[in-house]
Amino acid sequence: LAASDSGGVATYHPVLDQQSLRRLQLGTEIEQAMADGQISVVFQPIIDAQSSDIVSVETLVRWAHPRYGSISPDDFIPLAEQIGRIGAVTDHVLDLALARCRRWLDQDIALSVAVNLSVHCLTEPDLVTRVRGALQRHGVPGELLTLELTEGSVVDDSVRDSTVLADLHDLGLRLSMDDFGTGYSSLSQLRQLPIDEVKIDKSFVLGMSTSQGESFIARSIIELAHNLGLRVVAEGVEDEMTRNLLTEMGCDKLQGFLVSRPLPDDRLENWLLARTG
Ligand code: C2E
Ligand code: CA
Ligand code: CA
Ligand code: CA
Repeated sequence: LAASDSGGVATYHPVLDQQSLRRLQLGTEIEQAMADGQISVVFQPIIDAQSSDIVSVETLVRWAHPRYGSISPDDFIPLAEQIGRIGAVTDHVLDLALARCRRWLDQDIALSVAVNLSVHCLTEPDLVTRVRGALQRHGVPGELLTLELTEGSVVDDSVRDSTVLADLHDLGLRLSMDDFGTGYSSLSQLRQLPIDEVKIDKSFVLGMSTSQGESFIARSIIELAHNLGLRVVAEGVEDEMTRNLLTEMGCDKLQGFLVSRPLPDDRLENWLLARTG
């Protein structure tokens, strides 16, 4: 707020700083940016911890802005959530991911894709219809799709009391609790919600090779999840030591720079070819 003096009475009017202006501007550009192909996706492989086979890829959104260069999803996803555009971004990403999955199926490769789903989307009344429609449009069976519940994984009461997660589950897809251990994601939620998998947040995994505390947290999450019949994915695996620790702990799947960075479509294709020989 800035003060201006008008005849002895100070009045206040809001002043937009550069950053807020840029954010507002960006928000108005999201829709057009999707239409123009500026918003695309990359894929990061997820491997089976025991066999090292690739089992899935996580779809991560990218925005190549003509003036600002590459904008991180950590910056524009929260913005899209705030201005009510996250549903449109989700549909766009889902469309690109399922199109890719379909092309693999045509090559006889049944590789599952994971798509991040902001918990904000869970309150959109037509979400289940849109996801079902996208699967049908691309001819991809629900079993090949995982939805990762992101954004602090705070599933509020209205969502818990609704049937949205059960309805998504009924499409045959898997539900994964992202960033587990951070924010407000809680143990009781794991029991109450139809979740198939948890992802140990990379903030714990990154510290495992140097900190016993982080290793202890990872071990506890794995044990707990397994006791509840859930699978566990560790993200942010950057070194061999961490990989070995996680494998010994019985972690089911691994994802991180050690395996591969997120890759654009064509480079993923080469990566797959090089790996499978
Ligand atoms: P996330 O879902 O937890 O995704 C993992 C993030 O960690 C990705 O960052 C990935 O590039 C990064 N990462 C992967 N392996 C490693 C590693 O070994 N070390 C380190 N230091 N980092 C690693 P990215 O792509 O910048 O995405 C950031 C976040 O933005 C995601 O976190 C997710 O919450 C959100 N996001 C990305 N794409 C989408 C989307 O399509 N929809 C929604 N709603 N959120 C998205
Ligand atoms: Ca994720
Ligand atoms: Ca995470
Ligand atoms: Ca995250």
